[in-house]
Amino acid sequence: METKIWPQATAGREQNQVIKEAAALLRDQQVVAFPTETVYGLGADATSEEAVQRIFEAKGRPADNPLIVHVGERSQVEELVTHIPEVAKQLMDKFWPGPLTLVLPSNHQAARNVTAGLNTVAIRMPDDPIALALLKESGLPLAAPSANRSGRPSPTEADHVYQDLQGRIAGIVDGGPTGIGVESTVVDCAAEIPIILRPGGVTKEDIEPLVPDVIIDPALADQPGEQPKSPGMKYTHYAPEAPLWLIEGDDVFFREQLESMKEEGQRVAVIASQELAGQLNHEPVTVCGSRAQLTEVAGGLYRALRHYKKSEAEVILCESFPEYGVGAAIMNRLRKAATQKIKQY
Ligand code: AMP
Ligand code: MG
Repeated sequence: METKIWPQATAGREQNQVIKEAAALLRDQQVVAFPTETVYGLGADATSEEAVQRIFEAKGRPADNPLIVHVGERSQVEELVTHIPEVAKQLMDKFWPGPLTLVLPSNHQAARNVTAGLNTVAIRMPDDPIALALLKESGLPLAAPSANRSGRPSPTEADHVYQDLQGRIAGIVDGGPTGIGVESTVVDCAAEIPIILRPGGVTKEDIEPLVPDVIIDPALADQPGEQPKSPGMKYTHYAPEAPLWLIEGDDVFFREQLESMKEEGQRVAVIASQELAGQLNHEPVTVCGSRAQLTEVAGGLYRALRHYKKSEAEVILCESFPEYGVGAAIMNRLRKAATQKIKQY
């Protein structure tokens, strides 16, 4: 299949034309990648099992991992759920459009493969002009997981989508680099007490003033045992080409680990904050942002994870970040990307 690429439009009129063409493909049951404020999404008509099946095939995504439905208007939510719990209304009022996905009781109007047979459906309204224009022009709710091959880091640039999915999807709308850089926060509002199933762009601290008893799914804590409540959280994700070792300790500990691996003759590449990078006498180092600005680290994380090719490193050592604010999402993704975690005791 030839993948059509629409370069970033410079004029409003060009942009309208791009949106028209991409929306026509979506209405024709094809799969199109488009930017959102979090990462690039791979969209298809959420009411069509056939269109949604194309997403699973293009990504190589396990069929039991449900998709998030993107909507452009609140009225589209009502068409997909039995009812909207009060707490969900409050969260929508405060955070939509934005990086917050709500798991709601499904009325089974979304295609069966969107929800992987669950009685709930995950919905969000993205805060991106291209995504919103596509939703409006197509008139469809769009199922849209991240536009990467399953298991790879999520795409934050159109070129990342191209690397993973060229020839496998109908089109890619280039909207430049995405802003937030990690996926949306998923909150289960069908449960008695809302639970964060996946930390993301909206933080627990953001949600707490509205929902003081909100908790993060305890199964996401870094200990083996419990099954996460969100089906997708059990899979390997976000993996770079070389094995990633996550170093959980202070800067001295990181430097010691790096030195001892170099002494063993290993070809090591590093992903670090600018603060740690400044202390290292080593190459190559990829900087993903400043430790003092975790939103910057979130924005640069997936680009850094995609940076090293297999030939460049036997091992990638990556720094850890504080787990407050968007740091919870950063560490959730890094733990899932890591093949080894090395902790300082
Ligand atoms: P992605 O589309 O790659 O951003 O992943 C979507 C995430 O939302 C995965 O972790 C899914 O398991 C989760 N998800 C989607 N629908 C539901 C649902 N109905 N209940 C719980 N988690 C869901
Ligand atoms: Mg994904």
